[in-house]
Amino acid sequence: MTALALVWPDMLLFACLLLLFFGVLAFNRISHTHKVYLVFHFVMMIWPFGQFMTSTTGYPGFQLGFVKLSFTALSLLGPGWLFFVLFLTGRAVSLKPYKAFLYLLPSLVCAAGVIFNPRGVFLSPVGGSYLHREYGPLFWLLVVAEYVYFIIALLIMFNALKTVNSMNKRKQLAIAVIGIFVLTGFSVLDLLINVLLAPWLPVIPGLTSLGIFLSDCCFVFAIYRFGMFDILSVAQRDILSHMAMGIIVVDEEDKVLEVNRGASPFLRTAQGEIFDLGKFLSALQTQEETNEFLYKYRHNPQERMQTEIKLQDPSVRHVTIQISPVLDDRKTLIGRVIAFHDVTELRKLVDEMNRKNEALHERNLELIKIQEELFRVNQKLEQMAITDSLTGCYNRRYLMQQLEHEVLLNMRYRIPFSVFLFDIDHFKQINDRYGHLVGDEVIRGTAETVRGKLRRTDILARYGGEEFTVYLPHTNREQAMLLAERILHAIQQNAVEAGDENVNVTISMGVVSEDGDDLKFEDPKEFLREVFARADAALYQAKNGGRNRVVVAH
Ligand code: GH3
Ligand code: MG
Ligand code: MG
Repeated sequence: MTALALVWPDMLLFACLLLLFFGVLAFNRISHTHKVYLVFHFVMMIWPFGQFMTSTTGYPGFQLGFVKLSFTALSLLGPGWLFFVLFLTGRAVSLKPYKAFLYLLPSLVCAAGVIFNPRGVFLSPVGGSYLHREYGPLFWLLVVAEYVYFIIALLIMFNALKTVNSMNKRKQLAIAVIGIFVLTGFSVLDLLINVLLAPWLPVIPGLTSLGIFLSDCCFVFAIYRFGMFDILSVAQRDILSHMAMGIIVVDEEDKVLEVNRGASPFLRTAQGEIFDLGKFLSALQTQEETNEFLYKYRHNPQERMQTEIKLQDPSVRHVTIQISPVLDDRKTLIGRVIAFHDVTELRKLVDEMNRKNEALHERNLELIKIQEELFRVNQKLEQMAITDSLTGCYNRRYLMQQLEHEVLLNMRYRIPFSVFLFDIDHFKQINDRYGHLVGDEVIRGTAETVRGKLRRTDILARYGGEEFTVYLPHTNREQAMLLAERILHAIQQNAVEAGDENVNVTISMGVVSEDGDDLKFEDPKEFLREVFARADAALYQAKNGGRNRVVVAH
């Protein structure tokens, strides 16, 4: 086989890897994770590059250099895949730096052996050229180390495949498994054909390079298809780390997967630790509240829940804890997001508002009381406006107002009615003899006696000094006469107590009775004036007739 025939597959594959490299570089916004990938990709490219460059030179020194370059890159490929897998399965977050170094150590030892090649322990030339070379024990150590790396990576991946529930994650892992299988397969083939069976089989160049290229294709496919290095998740992580709210993400076993800076004022925890909600709450809240919240946390894991706690350092702060479940496509709980939010200011505002509300409520109650008082006073005033203070009867003004309305109704419905007008006889003498106070008492007593004889619908009003009037609806002349006589009699019988003495009075009364059938008038005021004039005339007659009597107006 010519030298060119040996060169072109590696060269071509190198070119493909280079294209892919620039492709990823050009079509992605570069995040940290992308940078890690590109470094890894760059290391992968070195193998085919070293391979074809070895064939392009006749100088053994250059050839050795390129071979060493290839194999140094190859020795870094194993740990590269291992770290990638750790990253993919989420184990990278809890990886301590010394452990990472331990993982890297075998490949670093191999790389050092390749570079220094002491006493041809790695390889020696055949016939002065490195195009054909004899491999020493270090080569086989490197091969074994690489396969061990790949096997460990595969085991981790299979293990993860068993436990991961998310469909997307499973597909990512499956593609990575394929990538490792392809790479391992082609490199085993390369080893078999071009090293172990080299004396009997023709050289097939570019096998490992093809494996590298194909596994890298898996890698790039996973990036684009499943958004492994999704800019959105990078942005989300960025937002998470800068937000004021404290966020902890735990898995279903309460192991902390993520904790942001905002959580540090509320609690101390780190990635990989177990977040014990019970222990955290028990120090802060009363036993009963804690138990209730914890019960929900443990028994209803699919439920969103929230509680408020009080932190004491250094001043009192109110913090809400909100717990939201993280479910996968099959609605299985795979973790929880626990958010801490300082609501002290809000609480202060709410308290302040409640206080103000309470004050307002009290003022309202006071206002209602004042309003009620006002209503009562108003009612009293109204009552006062229509009643006579001495006797408690209605006053004349009120009676007249009522009568204007009443007589209209009486006219319309032909209702009979009567009016009494009476005056205490010789009242001046009572005043003169007993004094005004007794006179007042006599006026009040007389009104009381008359009221006792009336119906509820009759209206008794004080007409003037010791004169009263009574309006009697539905009362004809006969009925009125009867009642008038009865009243006269009652007054005569009834003695009013005045100090040690009893004062007896009589009254004279004028009566007007209207038969509903002949009732006809235009102006109720005018009609009433006439009715009272007639009553007055009748009363005058009664006085003239000797007093203590009833005169009916005709
Ligand atoms: P008569 O009616 O029988 O003709 O004789 P009289 O003495 O009663 O005469 P008149 O009715 O004119 O007298 C009314 C008197 O009543 C005049 C006034 O001093 C007195 N008087 C009027 N209002 C009151 C009052 O509210 N209290 C008292 N104590 N006296 C009053
Ligand atoms: Mg009188
Ligand atoms: Mg009088």
